[in-house]
Amino acid sequence: MEKTGNIKISSENMMPIIKKWLYSEKDIFLREIVANAADAITKFRKLVDLGEAENGEPYKITVTTDSKADTLTVEDNGIGMTAEEVETYITQIAFSGAADFVAKYEKAGGEGIIGHFGLGFYSAYMVSENIEIYTKSYRKDAAAVRWESDGNSTYTLGECDKTTRGTKIVMHIAKEEKEILQENEIRKLLKKYCSFMPYEIFLNPKDGEENKPQNMTVPLYAKQPKECTEEEYKNFYRDTFSDFHEPLFWIHLNMEYPFRLKGILYFPKIKKQVELERGQVKLYCNQVYIADNIKEVIPEFLMLLNGVIDCPDIPLNVSRSFLQNDSQVQKIAKHITKKVADKLTELSRNDKEKYESCWNDISTFVKFGCIKNDDFYEKVKDVIVYKNLAGEYTKLSSLFGEEVSEADAKEGKEPQAVYYASDLNKQAQYVKMFRDAGLDAIVCDAYIDPHFISYIEYKNPTRVRFLRIDADVDGALKDGAGEDKEIEEIFTECLKDKGVKVKTEKLKNASVSAVVNVSEFMRRMSEMHSFYQMGESPADVTLIVNTANSAVLALKGAEEGRRRLAAEQIFLLALMNYKQLSPEESETFAANNAALLSEYLKN
Ligand code: ADP
Repeated sequence: MEKTGNIKISSENMMPIIKKWLYSEKDIFLREIVANAADAITKFRKLVDLGEAENGEPYKITVTTDSKADTLTVEDNGIGMTAEEVETYITQIAFSGAADFVAKYEKAGGEGIIGHFGLGFYSAYMVSENIEIYTKSYRKDAAAVRWESDGNSTYTLGECDKTTRGTKIVMHIAKEEKEILQENEIRKLLKKYCSFMPYEIFLNPKDGEENKPQNMTVPLYAKQPKECTEEEYKNFYRDTFSDFHEPLFWIHLNMEYPFRLKGILYFPKIKKQVELERGQVKLYCNQVYIADNIKEVIPEFLMLLNGVIDCPDIPLNVSRSFLQNDSQVQKIAKHITKKVADKLTELSRNDKEKYESCWNDISTFVKFGCIKNDDFYEKVKDVIVYKNLAGEYTKLSSLFGEEVSEADAKEGKEPQAVYYASDLNKQAQYVKMFRDAGLDAIVCDAYIDPHFISYIEYKNPTRVRFLRIDADVDGALKDGAGEDKEIEEIFTECLKDKGVKVKTEKLKNASVSAVVNVSEFMRRMSEMHSFYQMGESPADVTLIVNTANSAVLALKGAEEGRRRLAAEQIFLLALMNYKQLSPEESETFAANNAALLSEYLKN
């Protein structure tokens, strides 16, 4: 006895809309169908647990491709459906569920529901021109039924001769979607969407052979941390992220209350320093893959890590903007942030050596995290380290000074100065002067450092200011009062067309004739200009002439022309230690040098 019926809702217009939205992600249909199969098994298993049903075989899901018949079949040995249930669940619920999805999607302004969750059974029509369902309920004496529909307004429902419990969904794949029937294609999709589903999934199993499931029914993250070995963590990382570099360390999240959250976050080795490398944080819901890098759930900076997060409590069939304001989701994000900060502080405290050996790889992540997330900064601020000139790590916070009170600030007292070198090679002259004077500086040579030190100053305005090593001749580099008006005038006169200010100081290091100083403020302005491509802004250059240097002093008695040449040469030499000379400057330097050498060799 076969029955034909009308599907109650107007479904004719739905599929084109869904196809348009989900065009690039139509593969999710496989997740929806396999997840339904897994749910059906769970429902049956619960009945068995309650003693209301009996099971005699292992639970499993079988996926088969048939490229002759152009079908893709997903079969489970779950709870199955009676004819009435098919009417209710498929003809009504599945179709109206899809209509609901469309309505929600529209309300979300097309911006999407995370991972396009909630479309359900109906999504299979994205790739199928017709679908048949063969199903037999676990209930005693329930007749097996066959349902069929092309996804438009009519369906047929009748009995069939299926003898085993469970449901078989046969998708007749549409012509333009045929490539999906390749076994490898399905394998890829099963890996992406179904890797951690809780029942074994077999793809085209062969009779009489031992078939291997496509998934891990108990993913490592679902286990208790104390049950997992280091080797397992590393293997799980390699299998999940196809990264053959070992991760540096990891965090196993495992919590039940006040929300359920499981997962593993890995700190990867950085491959290149120059830019932020994006990681991949995969979001799961009850072992079903939802999507990657969902910034509404996982704080953006954590996406530099690799990880899996399973969080069944996140409402997934709502719009992204709703999620952003959901307090539960915010708590989850906070919790993850805290766990990451805890791991860093714990490592720095308990295994300083390992922490320092990893620092180079994780520092960009930590600094970026601080800039993006004040909470995170507050938690990790005492474990941020920098190398000093001797190559040893120093805690940044240990370099801060006492707070400068408002009253003291009015009297001109400034926050503690921390000197830094941004390039040890280019700033070698200054580094040497610092070392010789027994002064120290930190090395801030990472891509993110200019932003990060500004952030630190902003957070600690009364306790620290950063000065590049070439920004200011510090008191400790000077050797008492060394001003010399005559030298100052000679240099000012000789360099008057160079646009530089001249100052004289007696420096401890007599071998240096002069150094160039550019005020920290002006230099940062100029860097910002070039960062935002606003063109070069003129830097405010001061030439500090060293009155302890014998060549400088010799200028006093020198003849006008020679004096001019020597002053220019001293200036260019100092400039050279500050930046790369322009072509014109290099040319002048070479010509001056030739003149000096021939003069020298003559005598
Ligand atoms: P959802 O799974 O979100 O409820 P679907 O459209 O995917 O929505 O499915 C509608 C209903 O059809 C399910 O709730 C379930 O009752 C029934 N169903 C779907 N697939 C199966 C299956 N393989 N076995 C048993 N019941 C199923």
